[in-house]
Amino acid sequence: MVPVIALVGRPNVGKSTLFNRLTKTRDAIVAEYAGLTRDRQYGEAKWQGRTYIVIDTGGISGDEEGIDAKMAEQSLQAIEEADAVLFMVDSRAGMTAADQMIAEHLRKRNKRSFLVANKVDTVDPDIARAEFSPLGLGDALPIAAAHGRGINAMLEQALGIFPKDNAEEGEEEGEAEVVAEGEEPKRIPGPSEKDGIKIAIIGRPNVGKSTLVNRMLGEERVIVYDQAGTTRDSIYIPFERGEEKYTLIDTAGVRRRGKIFEAVEKFSVVKTLQAIQDANVVIFVMDAREGVVEHDLNLLGFVLETGRALVIALNKWDGMDSGQRDYVKTELERRLSFVDFADIHFISALHGTGVGHLYKSVQASFQSAITRWPTSRLTQILEDAVQEHQPPLVNGRRIKLRYAHLGGANPPLIVIHGNQVEAVPKSYSRYLENTFRRVLRLVGTPIRIEYKGGE
Ligand code: GDP
Ligand code: GDP
Repeated sequence: MVPVIALVGRPNVGKSTLFNRLTKTRDAIVAEYAGLTRDRQYGEAKWQGRTYIVIDTGGISGDEEGIDAKMAEQSLQAIEEADAVLFMVDSRAGMTAADQMIAEHLRKRNKRSFLVANKVDTVDPDIARAEFSPLGLGDALPIAAAHGRGINAMLEQALGIFPKDNAEEGEEEGEAEVVAEGEEPKRIPGPSEKDGIKIAIIGRPNVGKSTLVNRMLGEERVIVYDQAGTTRDSIYIPFERGEEKYTLIDTAGVRRRGKIFEAVEKFSVVKTLQAIQDANVVIFVMDAREGVVEHDLNLLGFVLETGRALVIALNKWDGMDSGQRDYVKTELERRLSFVDFADIHFISALHGTGVGHLYKSVQASFQSAITRWPTSRLTQILEDAVQEHQPPLVNGRRIKLRYAHLGGANPPLIVIHGNQVEAVPKSYSRYLENTFRRVLRLVGTPIRIEYKGGE
């Protein structure tokens, strides 16, 4: 499971600055769902090939009233959700009563915590390291979030407590090994004998996830159910459909109670993000009656970032008239063009309409995501593409793309070797991506292209 790290501390210590540096993105998932304030941000971060989830929090000042109280509550919630906490203090401001209160809370909760003294560009780092020792959390790790100082040493400590395999599982991107021409790429995940294809059912609250899970399980043979899980964990439900094995990753928290399944858990962003990370295929559920809303786009953006195979289910299609349906279809075309590789199904989880068809897309996207394309095939496609449309000249020399091989799967990673590859324009990469997609007939999965130069 991907580790979750929360950034906690008083307002203004530099949490957002660190968050942005770690996630290197401005479009983090800002939680605005019912019950969550907009002050909690979630983002995917990578360090030395390891993936983790970062939560930024509003901040705890110690004298909360009104909106501040809400913020503090959210910070406490984030602490509960996290596997480890980066507790940030401000070395310019020195230790405050609020810092002591937070330290006390972390000790009480027995959370893995790392004391981080930010803004050491303004003071002597050695002083900053020792200054906060009265907090009882040992020496501080000195950093300057705004300038990127000390970040590696901090992450080495904080991520060091998690088993490395876990962090790497399901994330091959960025760590594709150099594979010689003709050699088989390594570490390509396939469906495990036991679990089959892992499908995560994802979507905002109330779009119909639990109803869909019930519907899918109600019709099939459930092998195991009611696995123990904490509030934070999704439930993994293996089942069979015909000859095929699947495992549903249920974020809605449907559990078997007697003869029926019922929702026992509220929506959790961490749960959602982890389920996406752990899945082979995501079934992304949307509510046709609400159309595409901002949070759908946020979550879809995250799915795209992780590279998981994707199937979109537009739920509650029942009872809509043709005018409404046309409107929704136009809207989908317009706003979901960035995930246009995914199949879209119009379903009614409540009545079961269209639910069976989801499996065909799940199978197809998964196959696309894990097929091992031979180097000769990929190289041929590359050569044809280059012939059809040459890469541009750079300083009077033409970019040379020589051969391509597979560097990973789910999502497929195509590694292209050549000269001056750092100068390949985005538009040309997109052209190659579209060509690979078309010729290999890939559906339902994003693909990644990586270049290797120096030959
Ligand atoms: P948050 O409220 O904890 O999220 O804090 P912010 O990230 O918004 O930062 C508060 C202020 O501290 C901003 O003006 C930042 O520019 C500044 N800041 C953040 N990191 C550093 C740092 O490493 N050095 C210095 N000198 N200022 C910083
Ligand atoms: P979740 O929060 O995403 O798990 O959503 P639920 O499965 O709890 O569904 C939220 C509400 O939408 C419930 O009242 C469901 O009965 C209703 N619902 C779910 N699927 C459908 C559907 O296909 N059609 C209609 N009309 N209502 C649905």
